[in-house]
Amino acid sequence: MTRRHSGIHVPPECREMIRAGALVAISTSGGKDSQAMTILLSRIVPRDQLVAVHAPLEDVEWPGTLEHIEATLPDGVPLILARVTSGKTLLDSIEERGRFPSPRVRWCTSSTKRGPIERELRRLLKAHPRFGGRIVSAIGMRAGESPARARKTPWKFSERNSRAGRTCFDWLPIHDLTEGQVFDVIRDAGQAPHPAYAMGMSRLSCVFCIMASRADLRTAARLRPQLYARYCALERRIGHTLSPSRVPLPDLTGVPARLCSDVGPQGCRRCAARN
Ligand code: SF4
Repeated sequence: MTRRHSGIHVPPECREMIRAGALVAISTSGGKDSQAMTILLSRIVPRDQLVAVHAPLEDVEWPGTLEHIEATLPDGVPLILARVTSGKTLLDSIEERGRFPSPRVRWCTSSTKRGPIERELRRLLKAHPRFGGRIVSAIGMRAGESPARARKTPWKFSERNSRAGRTCFDWLPIHDLTEGQVFDVIRDAGQAPHPAYAMGMSRLSCVFCIMASRADLRTAARLRPQLYARYCALERRIGHTLSPSRVPLPDLTGVPARLCSDVGPQGCRRCAARN
């Protein structure tokens, strides 16, 4: 029977993997869910079996994300950065494809996060035979976030990442936690979530996400005007919108794009600002 441990369900097979010395890899975006998951896992998994992995989104993520992850990582948990090797940013890829990703065709996640993270974890396993090729990949997804996420199986054998000599399971340790419980875990650990939450955002990761609510897009437009101008300019150039509703950002948020007339792919050329 599954037992509760430090506020999270640990399936028996997962418990066995940990006991057998598997590597437990925490995918962290720096958001509240990743942060709470990291705190909880650091209480039940031996530190020398834990690693945190972050895929930096460079100029499209919230400033201070990496610093926040580093500052809140429990002692003894190493952090690996999983960067895209092509050197292309998310905005470069959108420009090249002439389309934004969509909730159904979410190539942004696979190309900028999942792919680089899986690559780094394969390298890590290969370099450390003591894990016996066993890996538990932990992701801070919660059922309360959306009906699609509620349907996810919290513990699953990963066909995609398992090969001869490598056994991989995907685990959603905080799948049944509420948003309130997540903030409680962070507060009770004496930590604070990334400052973007206090500024009104409900989610972190990309500042302008294809799945963001109108309220988050409006807040982000106000807080990151230069980046907002780049997204608005990109929408105009490629004739495609970030929002799957096909409503352009300025209409959706009610925030006009900057009046600066010289906003290119790298930001405003005149003022050279890239906030
Ligand atoms: S945060 Fe949103 S836009 Fe960014 S990679 Fe994830 S799904 Fe795509």
